Amino acid sequence: MVAPTLTGVRIDLHAHSTASDGSQSPAAVVAAAAEAGLDVLALTDHDTTEGWQEALAAGEQRGIIVVPGAEISCKVRDVSVHLLSYLHDPADAALRGELALTREDRVDRARRMVLRLAADYPLTWDDVLEQVTGGATVGRPHIADAMIARGLVGSRDEAFGAVLHRNSPYFVPHHEQPAGDAVRLVLAAGGVPVMAHPRAGRRGRVVTDDDIAALAAAGLAGIEADHPDHTAAEREAVRDLGRRLGLLVTGSSDYHGPVRRNALGEFTTDQAVYEAIVAAGRGSRVGRPGATGRRSPGAGPRR
Ligand code: AMP
Ligand code: FE
Ligand code: FE
Ligand code: ZN
Repeated sequence: MVAPTLTGVRIDLHAHSTASDGSQSPAAVVAAAAEAGLDVLALTDHDTTEGWQEALAAGEQRGIIVVPGAEISCKVRDVSVHLLSYLHDPADAALRGELALTREDRVDRARRMVLRLAADYPLTWDDVLEQVTGGATVGRPHIADAMIARGLVGSRDEAFGAVLHRNSPYFVPHHEQPAGDAVRLVLAAGGVPVMAHPRAGRRGRVVTDDDIAALAAAGLAGIEADHPDHTAAEREAVRDLGRRLGLLVTGSSDYHGPVRRNALGEFTTDQAVYEAIVAAGRGSRVGRPGATGRRSPGAGPRR
């Protein structure tokens, strides 16, 4: 019999793969999560569900529960907001359409940023395309990777600090729907909406407590308090706000692969909060570790 671990189950609900701006395939992210001793991992690529199947299959093989999710680009006024969605129906037409619109505009936006950068740096659109896995959501990290490949900068962090940050003359925004609309879309698709890193001021301006209260009134289910871009004081303040608003409070790593310092399981979510998310999600199901061998040949999709 396996002795119970002292730390209990370890749950990380925010991670990226090559389906967006992570550096590892969905299967490799899940394998890394298993290696890191996690029991549950949510795959939350930007504006896509492309990595779900591969991640769920890898989770079944590796004995780790995979929660299908996404990180949706949206805004409050002109402040960028990232909304995590868990367990929504990937076939929901309205949500699918909105995500496709954002992904398409992200390509156009990245092309325009490269045009601006090309005036001052030896960088082409082909350089960027070389860094993007087919069908992946394109983002500034891919431009950073192209600059690294060209020897223009040493790291993603350096590229963001030098030319990719929001106040840079090379920066171009992309389509973002209002966050309240995104919350409603996620709910209508059977998903559980959780606001990501609400106090990550390093990335740009952040929303107010009143903005978050308004999103809570629109149906926001949770808020991410523990995140590498939050200070200890910010984590505590978000936890307090979440409690006051009756929100689920999560913690996660926002892992993007070895290209960034964020380590899998660096921050984690309480089991009771995870269980509340699973209970609320109606659009899709978490993976079933070890289910592969038991499924009859030709068994249909999970839903
Ligand atoms: P975009 O989605 O194109 O607006 O780019 C934002 C993404 O870039 C975020 O989701 C992060 O994953 C990543 N990012 C932001 N700041 C940095 C940084 N300083 N170093 C590396 N990646 C970053
Ligand atoms: Fe990212
Ligand atoms: Fe984010
Ligand atoms: Zn993220």
